[in-house]
Amino acid sequence: MNELTIVMYHYVRNIKNSQYQNIKGLETDGFRRQLDYLSGNFNIIKAEDLIDSLKNGVQLPEKSCLLTFDDGYKDHLTFVLPELIKRKLQGSFFPPVKPVMEREMLDVNRIHFILACTNDFSKLLANVDDLCIDHGIVPSDLISFKYQYYIPSRYDTADVMYVKHLLQHVLPEEIRNSISSKLFQIHINRAELDFADELYLSFDEIKKLVESGMYVGSHGYRHLWLDKESYYSQSLEIDSSLEFLKDVGARTDDWIMCYPYGAYNENTIAILKERNCAVGLTTKVGLAQVSGSTSLELPRFDTNDYPQ
Ligand SMILES: [Zn+2]
Repeated sequence: MNELTIVMYHYVRNIKNSQYQNIKGLETDGFRRQLDYLSGNFNIIKAEDLIDSLKNGVQLPEKSCLLTFDDGYKDHLTFVLPELIKRKLQGSFFPPVKPVMEREMLDVNRIHFILACTNDFSKLLANVDDLCIDHGIVPSDLISFKYQYYIPSRYDTADVMYVKHLLQHVLPEEIRNSISSKLFQIHINRAELDFADELYLSFDEIKKLVESGMYVGSHGYRHLWLDKESYYSQSLEIDSSLEFLKDVGARTDDWIMCYPYGAYNENTIAILKERNCAVGLTTKVGLAQVSGSTSLELPRFDTNDYPQ
């Protein structure tokens, strides 16, 4: 049994001096300090070391740590890659394919920026409810949504969690897409295509990560909650992301899946096993115990769990 600390990052940017000062992410200064802290206190391993330990029983070093970066943000090339290279460290990157190839905002990112530009959350909630009614959602459903989803999480208030749940998975995909687009126009007021170009890595930039010795793995095609998708739809998501990995030059023999939103079910696990996936990364919080020939449900820590 090997113990492994896996740290999860999303946005890493100059937040204080940016236009979106309330975006939830890690400041570049904090990132530098955290890398110094982690490399001083842990052995930062490569994704290949983890795969090797599973496939060939190689023991991981004491206090092993893997750095993971979700969602394919341009931040990862601009701020993360130079810091990793400077320290001779490897990061593991998990870009969803759709925003990279189609330059379209994911709902989840629209919501982040909408929330970052909002001061009045009760007004945002009222806006969301009004737009739901406009899109044919009946008031009794809204009451039941409030009952089920108006609950605070580890990092977010009940208002924020309610908006996130509704716009990330509760409403039908077409409706939540339309509502988040409308809210994006109201709150951010910028062409989404330009915004997506600035936000997400391009195909060539992801190739550059691979060529720089970084690990790139799957985060699905459309960044869906896989546990809410059929077996067939999950297979499509996973297979199209593997095609993409092949195209950017990343490995697809023994590979790593990072579940969008940490969501998966028995079907996901069955599909991954069929496709020789070695590792699955969740958003459960904790120290990973690596054993057996595959580890498809590894927990991670958040960057906020360590000094910054
Ligand atoms: Zn994600």
